[in-house]
Formats: sequence, structure tokens, C-alpha cells
Amino acid sequence: MAQHFDYICLGAGSGGIASANRAAMRGAKVLLIEAKHLGGTCVNVGCVPKKVMWYGAQVAEAMHLYAKDYGFDVSVNQFDWNTLVASREAYIERIHGSYERGLANNKVTVVNGYGRFVDNHTIEVDGEHYSAEHILIATGGAPSIPAIPGAEYGIDSDGFFALREQPKRVAVVGAGYIAVEIAGVLHALGSETHLFVRKHAPLRNFDPMLYETLMESMASEGPSLHTQSIPKEVRKNADGSLTLVLENAEEYTVDCLIWAIGRAPATGNIGLENTDVQLDPKGYVITDAQQNTSAKGVYCVGDIMAGGVELTPVAVKAGRLLSERLFGAQPDAKMDYDCIPTVVFSHPPIGTMGLTEPEAKERFGEDQVKVYTSSFTSMYTAVTAHRQACKMKLVCAGADEKVVGIHGIGFGMDEILQGFGVAIKMGATKADFDAVVAIHPTGAEEFVTMR
Ligand code: FAD
Ligand code: NAD
Repeated sequence: MAQHFDYICLGAGSGGIASANRAAMRGAKVLLIEAKHLGGTCVNVGCVPKKVMWYGAQVAEAMHLYAKDYGFDVSVNQFDWNTLVASREAYIERIHGSYERGLANNKVTVVNGYGRFVDNHTIEVDGEHYSAEHILIATGGAPSIPAIPGAEYGIDSDGFFALREQPKRVAVVGAGYIAVEIAGVLHALGSETHLFVRKHAPLRNFDPMLYETLMESMASEGPSLHTQSIPKEVRKNADGSLTLVLENAEEYTVDCLIWAIGRAPATGNIGLENTDVQLDPKGYVITDAQQNTSAKGVYCVGDIMAGGVELTPVAVKAGRLLSERLFGAQPDAKMDYDCIPTVVFSHPPIGTMGLTEPEAKERFGEDQVKVYTSSFTSMYTAVTAHRQACKMKLVCAGADEKVVGIHGIGFGMDEILQGFGVAIKMGATKADFDAVVAIHPTGAEEFVTMR
């Protein structure tokens, strides 16, 4: 006999936890099923540990690159990787505790185990059956590994967070967020780091100003960027080192190889063949604009959703809005997937939202797009021998110069973008930006003083 609930969330990552809590706050009897740890990718092997490592890298850069010209005679005797990892893991443990308390306060039942659909309304975990009128699929994804000989000698981003020793020489393969972020962190913490991208640039779907500036920064500060580099095979050597062989026959020997070539949806083994849920050819769950799958009463949010945006706040917002629709008397609630702000924790960080310059020209026509830019040396670095560029761009469209894209790379950009995101979501024009008095001296003021 199945235990019955109003709502079951399969997967306690960003989307599942947010949706479960909100549904329970609206009075639903909720079950949350998690195979591993509360918080999913973001908390355990994603945003949170990544950001802690990035902060560690910021501390290293402050000491090695900038402290001297600020008058500090810094000598660093050693960097202990495991102290950083221990601080990080202790912080994650505290997050687990706060999630447990939040779910308990909202009276969400949590079951630890791997769930599989038995039918559209029933999930089985370790032989127990649980049923509900409404079931959310929020099982996220997992890192991909390329199908080349020796690929198994490399690790993925999960493996990066499991490292208990800092690798001396590292190859990072991939051109997306994860590759750029991990390569930047390892380089700043002192590993000899090589980043291999298949085409002309990392982050090549971003505005060209962003990736061009990032590449200039990599050329002067590192890590070593290898473009047009397609992995062909990996060999394990007698001393335990790995040799990455590229299609152009170049070879690089390192101690650790990290694949960061994208992620795949976790739909393979969750019993969807027992439901009416349809998948796209890559295995992502197809949904409509209100997160409904093709099976009545089954919904999907987050990384596993076809055509979604793989970011924590996107999964969280979609999960909460779904619960407001199902249990909060907001029948029209739906996620707006358009124009989502995002930050890459690169060195220096990137903030971006809306259309790139090429996308805007394509959509509105070249003569309808006006672009404003600013380029300067961030003040934090300008007083030191180690000067770092900061570049910003506003992409404006139409006679009223509505701001349809905002892009920046440089010191502090990770914290600058969020507020401007509000303005852009409200439909701000260049004149609206200009109407705001600048805050001086900051990097952000450039966005309201561009000519
Ligand atoms: P997940 O968080 O992946 O949660 C899915 C959960 O379901 C997991 O806990 C899994 O164990 C569980 N599960 C799977 N199958 C089952 C099953 N059958 N039964 C029970 N449980 C199951 N996003 C940002 O916004 N900012 C960042 O800085 C950022 N950095 C990232 C860094 C890295 C290295 C990675 C990998 C991702 C990063 N992301 C970042 C992306 C972000 O982590 C994801 O978009 C987000 O976690 C997706 O949430 P989700 O709920 O869809 O899935
Ligand atoms: P991604 O899809 O962003 O990038 C994968 C990259 O790997 C692509 O550039 C692709 O061209 C390249 N690639 C694919 N196959 C390859 C191969 N065989 N050999 C070499 N390169 C190959 O994926 P990701 O970096 O794994 O990140 C996944 C998602 O997680 C991101 O899209 C993002 O939405 C999210 N994320 C966000 C943040 C953040 O918000 N700061 C950080 C990390 C991840």
C-alpha cells in the first residue's frame, strides 16, 4: 500500500527543495526524495564549493599580485589545500543543517534514497511506494565525459571537489563556465594550469568583448590557454602522470586532467518508461511554459528540463512558481526564462544579461542598435604593478535606446550586475541609466556615465 501525499518532489537540489518548501508553506502534504545530499549539485558539487574555492583564489591573488604595492611585506610560507577544503566542507555541512531545519519547520517529509517512477503517480524508493496527485521531476544532471580512449583517467567537476591534494600540473578541457572557473581557481592557487578549448575562444557564446578580454587576461596572467585543441586520447604513464594527446598531435603531460565539457540530464534510470513523460533526443524532459510534462500531474524544473537554463536561481524560481500555481491559488504563475542575469566567476569575473552585440544586430538590424562601451583599469589594481582591465558594454536598441544587453568583465563585476538586472527587466533605456547619479569612485558608475 503506497503512502499518499499531495506533492512529491524527486530530487532535493535547488529546484526540488525550493518547490517542496513553497508547496508545504501553502498547505500541501509534501514528500521530498533525495538519493545523496540535500542541496543537490549547487550546494555539494557546484556553486557553493566553487565560490569558496574562488574566494580562496581571490585571497591568493591579493597576497601575490597586489599586497606589495599596498605596502604589505607578505611572505607566504605555504598554502594548505586541505585547510581550504575543510573550511569549505564545514560550511556545506552548516548549509545541510539549515536545509534540514527549514524542511522540518515546513513539515516536509524527507526520504533518503533513489526514487523511480512506477507509474505517473507513484514512486518507489527501496521497495516503499509513495503516491501523489502531483509529482515534480527535479533530478538535475551529471558531468559528461568524452568518448575517447583513456577518458576515464580524467576526473570531472565532482572529482575536482573531491581532490584532497592540490595537483601540480593540470589540464582542464572545456570552454564553458565550469572549465573557465576551475582553470582560473587552480591557476590562482598555484597549479600549473592549461585550459584546452576546441575552437577559437572559451565562452564563445558570450559577447565578444567578454571572451576577448578574458583571453587577453589569460595571455598576461594565465592560465595557459590552448585554442583549436581537440582531445584525441589520454595516456596514463608509468609515474602516474597523464598525457593528453590532441588531434593536432600536440601532447601535454600533467598530473590531473579535468573534463568540463558539459552536463547530461539524469533521466536515464528514474523509471520514466513507466510514465507518459516525453523526453527530447538528448534525454531532457519536455515541458510547456508552466512546467507541465506530457504526463498529467507530472512536472519538471531545473537542469533536467529541455530548453532550460542551467542555473540555481532559475531552478529555484521555477520550482517556487510551480508550487504557487498548484497550491497557492496562482493559476497563471509561470517562469520567465527571458533575459536572465548570470556571472562567470572567472579571473576577472564576468557579468552578463540579455543580448550580445551580434545577437542584437541580428534581431533588430544593424542600424537599430547602438553600443556604448567603457574600458579602464580597475582602481584596485591600478595602484599596483599588476594592472587588470575592466570593460563594460551596453547594447541598446530602437529609437528610445532600450537597454537589451549589459555586459562587463572586471573587478567586482560579480556583485555589480544584480541591481542593473532589475532596471533591464523593467525595460530601462539608456536615458534612464543616464538619469541616475553615479556612485563614485566605483567600477559600477561606468554603466551610468557612458558616452
Ligand atoms: P540538482 O541541484 O542537480 O539536484 C538534483 C538532485 O536530485 C541531486 O541532489 C540528486 O542527487 C538528486 N537525484 C537525482 N536522481 C534522483 C533519484 N532518482 N532519486 C532521488 N534523488 C535523485 N549555478 C549558478 O546559478 N551559479 C553558479 O555559480 C553555479 N556554479 C556551478 C558550478 C558547478 C561546478 C556546477 C556543476 C554547476 C553550477 N551551477 C551554478 C549550476 C547549478 O548547480 C544547477 O543549475 C542547479 O544545481 C540545478 O538544480 P536542479 O534542482 O535542477 O538539480
Ligand atoms: P557548458 O555547456 O557551459 O560548456 C561545455 C563546453 O565544453 C562547451 O563550450 C563545449 O563546446 C565544450 N565541449 C563539449 N564537448 C567537448 C569535447 N568533447 N571536448 C572539448 N570540449 C567540449 O557546460 P559546463 O561548463 O559543464 O557547465 C554546465 C552548466 O552549469 C553551464 O551551462 C551553466 O549554466 C552552469 N554553471 C553555471 C555557473 C555560474 O553560474 N557561474 C558555473 C558553472 C556552471
